[in-house]
Amino acid sequence: MSDNHDYDLIVIGAGSGGVRLARMSAQRGARVAVIESRYLGGTCVNVGCVPKKLFVYGSHMGEDIEDAAGYGWSVPADQMRFDWPTLVANKNTEIERLNGIYRRLLENAGVTIIEGTASFTDSNTLAVGDASYTAKHITVATGSWPVTPDVPGKECILSSNEMFYLPQLPRQAVVWGGGYIAVEFAGILAGLGVETTLLYRGDMFLRGFDDDIRRFTASELPKKGVKLRFGVTIEAVRSEGAGYAVQLSDGTEMATGLVMAATGRRALVDGLGLEELGVQLNAGGHVVVDQHFQTAVPSITALGDVIGTPQLTPVALAQAMVLSRRLFGDGEGVMDYTCIATAVFCQPNIGTVGLTEAEARESHGKLRIYRSEFKPMKHTLSGRDERSLMKLIVEDSTDRVLGAHMVGPDAGEIVQGLAVAMKAGATKAHFDSTLGIHPTSAEEFVTMREPVAE
Ligand code: FAD
Repeated sequence: MSDNHDYDLIVIGAGSGGVRLARMSAQRGARVAVIESRYLGGTCVNVGCVPKKLFVYGSHMGEDIEDAAGYGWSVPADQMRFDWPTLVANKNTEIERLNGIYRRLLENAGVTIIEGTASFTDSNTLAVGDASYTAKHITVATGSWPVTPDVPGKECILSSNEMFYLPQLPRQAVVWGGGYIAVEFAGILAGLGVETTLLYRGDMFLRGFDDDIRRFTASELPKKGVKLRFGVTIEAVRSEGAGYAVQLSDGTEMATGLVMAATGRRALVDGLGLEELGVQLNAGGHVVVDQHFQTAVPSITALGDVIGTPQLTPVALAQAMVLSRRLFGDGEGVMDYTCIATAVFCQPNIGTVGLTEAEARESHGKLRIYRSEFKPMKHTLSGRDERSLMKLIVEDSTDRVLGAHMVGPDAGEIVQGLAVAMKAGATKAHFDSTLGIHPTSAEEFVTMREPVAE
């Protein structure tokens, strides 16, 4: 595989996609380097999925302790303590452990790790500081970065990146945004006792999710202390006393101790010099690639968040495996983006796979809709007013299950298995003939008999 380049492959970015691509390619015998400017493991490990989930666990503990009373456990309210710096420090220790694991994974596979910020000199050469490196193939796996709208006082507004290192928790917080990151952080803050308001300019958050799921989640979150204000946006923020005054589009003002924006992410291509080489960016700023992750420049490929496909770690990992096989293996496979199961780790969780009802109505004609709403068994004794929702969308003519959606504890864990069944083409008759696991919430997915709508 040797030629006159320093490497067969250089990957820019040691995030979810980059590490997987570098490792798989090195294991196939390629000479590989990965250049990373910030942290091994990228967004997911450092300021994304992993620390977020640890915070979600942490924020749920208070509720678990309260719920324990119905089961005979007593923890006097005046003895309940939560220490934010402990949670952050323990999270940081875990992240450092994972950074070490990523380093060892790469080193053991024979990948050279180059620390620094890469930019293209030509289509086969990258500069990192004063050094330069050449490769036959270069993959851009530089991920994405939070975008905060340009409002006066923008410098007072935190992104998810800073939230992971907050020195102390405020008494009140405003979370701005209607996507899953906003909803998850609102849940984390509220669970930890912060008076939290989520502001969203549209009339219902979680765009792209099934409408029943969105409405149901909107009815559950206030029970957990998240105040929802839709149809309103932030026009300006200014420091006031120890906190901030937030000026809203409806003419009102809010006082708060923290403002976080989760209003979108953009492809991180700053300073790479891609367009000068002829690599195209689309209107949204994402790197344009074909289905083989090929840009317009033959030596340059790209994958992960930077190409604007669903911004999820398993998507970046799967893309990396497809690309590694094409560059150094035996296949020209393409990614299958159908039935990607996802979870929103709000409280209660959302788990979803396949089409929403609106999408299915548009593409599949006559449907059968099955829906079940109930109180999870755990809360019969805890007394907590929390409900779960499950929904199946079935194509009437073929009986195929097109979508499965859930709001409730462990929804992410439950929906993963349904994704396998749906990938395999499961019909409603398969669901009906599957015996439930009793007593669980999950069994509801195989016991919904009567459609509630067609
Ligand atoms: P990244 O993981 O972002 O890696 C890109 C790397 O490139 C970074 O390490 C960056 O420092 C480096 N880099 C950038 N430019 C350069 C340069 N010029 N030179 C050298 N290095 C460079 N996904 C899920 O599946 N589940 C979740 O629960 C989930 N939760 C999330 C929560 C939050 C708050 C956020 C922000 C994201 C979450 N995601 C989640 C999304 C997930 O983290 C991303 O989809 C995934 O990390 C994308 O991987 P990637 O390889 O494309 O990019």
